[in-house]
Amino acid sequence: ESFSGLNIVPELLQACKNLNFTKPTPIQAKAIPPALEGKDIIGLAQTGSGKTAAFALPILNRLWHDQSPYYACILSPTRELAQQIKETFDSLGTIMGARTTCIVGGMNMMDQARDLMRKPHIIIATPGRLMDHLENTKGFSLRKLKFLVMDEADRLLDMEFGPVLDRILKIIPTQGRTTYLFSATMTSKIDKLQRASLTDPVKCAV
Ligand code: AMP
Repeated sequence: ESFSGLNIVPELLQACKNLNFTKPTPIQAKAIPPALEGKDIIGLAQTGSGKTAAFALPILNRLWHDQSPYYACILSPTRELAQQIKETFDSLGTIMGARTTCIVGGMNMMDQARDLMRKPHIIIATPGRLMDHLENTKGFSLRKLKFLVMDEADRLLDMEFGPVLDRILKIIPTQGRTTYLFSATMTSKIDKLQRASLTDPVKCAV
């Protein structure tokens, strides 16, 4: 099995090649085909499994056909993970002009507001700071969001981001939105979150 067997645009195949990704990891092989069909995904996979590219490739593939600002939002429990996710999106997506920004706690709000005004396609955020910008940064909204990813959702819930996640889920559109939830473990809390936020998801476990 190789990446060229997947139905992704040549620019992304080239980006995978440049990164020496010769064949999809197991989570990529399971999640990318249904994701390319437009399905919601629950991915049960650990860090190191290649889970970031498993959600980045389908998002970038759709972005190729439909470039609009504030296209996808990735929620991360920590700043460090957010930065790593941004690096994966940049290494795969720069070749096709994808613009990304990190919106995380502990950094300057005004600098972030300025970055948001440059209309990035992909926002990688910690939930509290994202909510802060949704409430306070004029001209920024997620009304046209096409993809929401909750990465390391078990850690998002462990870090008490549950209430702010609920608020974010109320604000962003449900119609026309695709949602991916990635978690290392399946718990009753994760099950509740997935039932509240995903539609007819495909479960991909490795
Ligand atoms: P992740 O689990 O997303 O944090 O990815 C772990 C590491 O695997 C990262 O350094 C990726 O660059 C790398 N990686 C992801 N997909 C592949 C692949 N198909 N082939 C080789 N390395 C990969």
